[in-house]
Amino acid sequence: MYRLLYWIIKSTDPYYPMEEKYYFSIPESKVPRIVIIGGGFAGLKMARSLRNAAYQVVLIDKNNYHQFQPLFYQVAMSGLEPSSIVFPLRKAFQNQKQFYFRNAEVIKIDSLLNEVQTDRGWLAYDYLIIAIGADTNFFGNQMIADHALPMKSVSEALYLRNKILEDLETALNIHDYEARQSWLDIVIVGGGPTGVEVAGALAEMRKYILPKDYKELNPEEIDIHLIESGPSLLAGMSEVSGKKAEEFLLEMGVLVKKNTQVISYDGRLVSMKDGSMIQSHKLIWAAGVTGNRISGLPEDVIVKGNRIKVDTFNKVQGSENIYAIGDIASMVSDDYPYAHPQVAQVAMQQGQLLAKNLIRKTKGREERAFNYVDKGSMATIGKNKAVADLPFMKLNGFLAWLIWLAVHLLSLIGVKNKLLVFINWIINYMTYDPSLRLIIRPRVPKKV
Ligand SMILES: Cc1cc2nc3c(=O)[nH]c(=O)nc-3n(C[C@H](O)[C@H](O)[C@H](O)COP(=O)(O)OP(=O)(O)OC[C@H]3O[C@@H](n4cnc5c(N)ncnc54)[C@H](O)[C@@H]3O)c2cc1C
Repeated sequence: MYRLLYWIIKSTDPYYPMEEKYYFSIPESKVPRIVIIGGGFAGLKMARSLRNAAYQVVLIDKNNYHQFQPLFYQVAMSGLEPSSIVFPLRKAFQNQKQFYFRNAEVIKIDSLLNEVQTDRGWLAYDYLIIAIGADTNFFGNQMIADHALPMKSVSEALYLRNKILEDLETALNIHDYEARQSWLDIVIVGGGPTGVEVAGALAEMRKYILPKDYKELNPEEIDIHLIESGPSLLAGMSEVSGKKAEEFLLEMGVLVKKNTQVISYDGRLVSMKDGSMIQSHKLIWAAGVTGNRISGLPEDVIVKGNRIKVDTFNKVQGSENIYAIGDIASMVSDDYPYAHPQVAQVAMQQGQLLAKNLIRKTKGREERAFNYVDKGSMATIGKNKAVADLPFMKLNGFLAWLIWLAVHLLSLIGVKNKLLVFINWIINYMTYDPSLRLIIRPRVPKKV
């Protein structure tokens, strides 16, 4: 039936691609095929939870590795190697039977034919899981998008590391005080966990690293600005945690400005809605995310923040075999009238439950609705300084910082990564001097 429909569409639509479809070479199987798009927290958890299930699982990701986003800022601040916070997806599934990975970018979903189109070919599915996460949201401001520094991938974190170090090298050779300032001063936009963590890490870099590596520079010349459009920092956390985080940052010499929106940035000048301006060659953008897009879904299922509207079983509205999980999914419930927060815990819990539900389906058992178990939220500001909203209490300072370290270490994928990060943290804690301040630029081939 679907094939007949396809044939009719193909022969009547003059714009339908007429070239032969190239399909992935994945063996046919007697069991249904689940195609998961995205090997982030949600997709990875789901694929792993389908181990031994009566399904063939195909995971597609545009990168061949999983990224641990909560520690991007430490890569950007030269505290960790990029390789210690990413994990090759093939390696994660070496021993899983009926599992296939394809490194490709999904471009389009054909829900009529149950197929996806990627930049490397087509693939048919019985169940499709969209776990494509979110990207930086510049709120439609193209000028800011062209010049700001986002941190939504490990390559962007590395780019930021290079930029910070390169600007310090440039500043060293500028005699004029005023001209030097714009290479030294840094503006961070967004007072959520990422903005707060970056601001704290930069303040520590200024205090502990600069006097050792760049003796000719006066660290006091470097201004670190944190701009937040709302009335408080860490808006998703408790009021007490937001206030404490601000207190820590002020103690560390960060210039915190609230109730102010950045409206333009041309690579040199940051302009704010209240009329104030800052000259800076670096604007770090941590002000929000928007869902990634794949064409083919009806427009009415795309809701606020580019998220995909799902029911309490993560099924995409109006579909029978397409699901969305993680940051990209928008599930509205009495407890979460504006959908769940876009955090790793929600993504993992949804991935795990959907895998279990699809297994229940094969056994004729009833599926269960998603019920988020909030294990708390945390943010670290610097050494011995963190805030934690736990289900049973709110903490700040050293204890919160220890919990933050333990939770992040345990959440990393791979024993080697856990060990590498742990060793790096111990060394950094004792020496206050990480040794990763390397400017590594990709080699650009000469044009002939
Ligand atoms: C800097 C930063 C810090 C954070 N800190 C925290 C924290 O401390 N605690 C916390 O809980 N959360 C944190 N988060 C949020 C958390 O990382 C996300 O909620 C989580 O990653 C969502 O998981 P996901 O699987 O939905 O998406 P992601 O983890 O983003 O994974 C999406 C995957 O889909 C792939 N993909 C996207 N489009 C396509 C396509 N078209 N074709 C193929 N593959 C595609 C991507 O390559 C990626 O692998 C942070 C996020 C950032 C950016």
